[in-house]
Amino acid sequence: MPQEKATIHPLFAVPDLPEREFYDAPETGDEPEVCPLCYGSGMEIVKGKGARPCKCRKEKSYSNSIEKAKIPKRYENCHFHSYRSLNPTQERAFRFASGLVRDYPAIERGLLLMGTVGVGKTHLAVSILKGLTERGFSHCLFYEFGGLLKSIQDSYNNVSQTSEMKVLQPIYDAEVLVLDEIGASKPTDWVRDTMANIINTRYNDKKLTIFTTNYLDDRRAEKDETLEDRIGVRLRSRLFEMCKTVSLSGEDFRRTFDQVTPIKRNQR
Ligand SMILES: [Zn+2]
Repeated sequence: MPQEKATIHPLFAVPDLPEREFYDAPETGDEPEVCPLCYGSGMEIVKGKGARPCKCRKEKSYSNSIEKAKIPKRYENCHFHSYRSLNPTQERAFRFASGLVRDYPAIERGLLLMGTVGVGKTHLAVSILKGLTERGFSHCLFYEFGGLLKSIQDSYNNVSQTSEMKVLQPIYDAEVLVLDEIGASKPTDWVRDTMANIINTRYNDKKLTIFTTNYLDDRRAEKDETLEDRIGVRLRSRLFEMCKTVSLSGEDFRRTFDQVTPIKRNQR
């Protein structure tokens, strides 16, 4: 590499640097990670046209937003393209979820994804967060409801470094929130009060919330508990106001995983 080019300050615009210089650079594997398009300035110079925000910044801000959304690692491969709808209820749920991403923020209500274990509810909820983040809505958050309750309880502990408000503030603030597995925690008075507090705050602030639940509205057997049994009649009715209920049915994905071929979705 010619000496004068190797020492160019990274912030200078150098529109006429030959492109092959990038490819000729030896791959030692331990070079500093400086973007070859913008040299870390964040602005890419486009020859004869000017400057534009470099795509490395876009990727970085996407991965920052995804990190901030706190999607658990076990769902990192969940996205719309990896969702497999095996029956019309799952296909319909897919359409609602992807439609929400497409139409947001011009939508009135969130979604309540309802169905038995392993039908793909959380997969769709995570896909919504990722899709919105890709569209540039950077203030999304995922919380498993039981985990959230535990964090709040832990904050009451004397040696805790945090407070209930510190745990709850991000839940209130998130532009779009996924609350996974609502109704799964044993419905004590405290659990119901806490749940009501969170749901009503987001409702009053007109913030979009996506819920998933393993509990259904109908009782299939005498001993079955419904979502209303778990969260109470008032909260169930609040969820009707806040969300469109989308029911999914089917086999547990995790059990059928190796036995089925995904439906092709390229005609969409
Ligand atoms: Zn760059």
